[in-house]
Amino acid sequence: MSEQNKSIHDFDFKLICEYFSSLERQGPGSPEVTIKALSFIDNLTDESKIADIGCGTGGQTMVLADHTSGHITGIDLFADFIEIFNANSRQRILQARVEGVVGSMDRLAFQNEELDLIWSEGAIYNIGFERGINEWHRFLKPGGYIAVSEASWFTEKRPVEIDRFWKDAYPEIDIISNKVGQMEKAGYIPIATFVLPENCWIEHFYAPQVSAQEKFLKKYAGNKTAEELVENQRHEAELYYQYKEFYGYVFYLGKKV
Ligand code: SAM
Repeated sequence: MSEQNKSIHDFDFKLICEYFSSLERQGPGSPEVTIKALSFIDNLTDESKIADIGCGTGGQTMVLADHTSGHITGIDLFADFIEIFNANSRQRILQARVEGVVGSMDRLAFQNEELDLIWSEGAIYNIGFERGINEWHRFLKPGGYIAVSEASWFTEKRPVEIDRFWKDAYPEIDIISNKVGQMEKAGYIPIATFVLPENCWIEHFYAPQVSAQEKFLKKYAGNKTAEELVENQRHEAELYYQYKEFYGYVFYLGKKV
């Protein structure tokens, strides 16, 4: 890559980070859903070690922190998100036990059997669900839990337009029973799966983007990258409204055998 291209890409990357940093969450979810998923996990104490992988700016991590008492490490590839994460943690006086670190989910710095709980909302797709649950397995203590949310099909068949869109965006999207089978194969007892309600997408993810998009387009008027980013987000939201009966996010909870 030439230096010129590199600086263009660095600029694009900064813009994308800035857009998503302005949102409380970077993916679909809600405090209620985080609490519901946590209700299936029964072995946590003050001594517990929890990792929130692909934590973003920490929307769900702070909810986790309010409902657990152990130590939480948030990990995200993007330093700007981690900066906001740590500012949020300090603001809530949680910095002694909720710490954000920059890192990649395919090179985690934990010891084998160090963690009691691995959490990841809407992020495991970055390395793929099957690869993620297999690679992260060794970091959990025996009897430890994994809780991840993941885009999934609700039906065996769906309209071509949405099928194509998702197969292009994330070819690993699959029906729920196949994902549960992958968890069993990876060495987890499936504890629970549940579909995230529509408000996780509409109220908590797409609605806050409407005003964020207006501000962003005003600030970067005439900038192609900014316009394309907003256009893509709007298209994704339109597809969701049109086809939401065929797909959504599902929380998968498993216990290490
Ligand atoms: N968990 C947050 C939430 O639900 O609001 C963020 C979800 S967002 C859809 C996906 C997150 O994964 C982003 O914050 C992104 O920076 C992060 N990410 C992407 N690739 C990553 C990687 N290789 N390692 C760690 N985090 C990564």
